[in-house]
Amino acid sequence: MHERHDAYKAHTMSDASRERVALLMEEAAEVIVICGKILRHGWDSHNPLDTHPETNRELLAREVADFNFALELMDKAEELHPGDVAGALVDARANKRQWLHFQGDVL
Ligand SMILES: [Mg+2]
Repeated sequence: MHERHDAYKAHTMSDASRERVALLMEEAAEVIVICGKILRHGWDSHNPLDTHPETNRELLAREVADFNFALELMDKAEELHPGDVAGALVDARANKRQWLHFQGDVL
């Protein structure tokens, strides 16, 4: 009983760490929004009401960069290590391919 209680004990987080997690979460959500726009309107579509429109492709590049920046902050804070992400990527390549239907042998 005590071991279980210890495993679920309350944790503390610094404001800086909370901010990094919030940023990563927000940027992930922004990537999702642009992916939805690509599915609905296409890669090279843009908002016709914008005076300086960016294509969905450009917007996705920007949001992925924002996401990577949040990862970079976590790396600098030693919260999420690039080596761990790289290792997980190797696993993803090995495991996700079997569930893809249309990607051929690109990887
Ligand atoms: Mg963003």
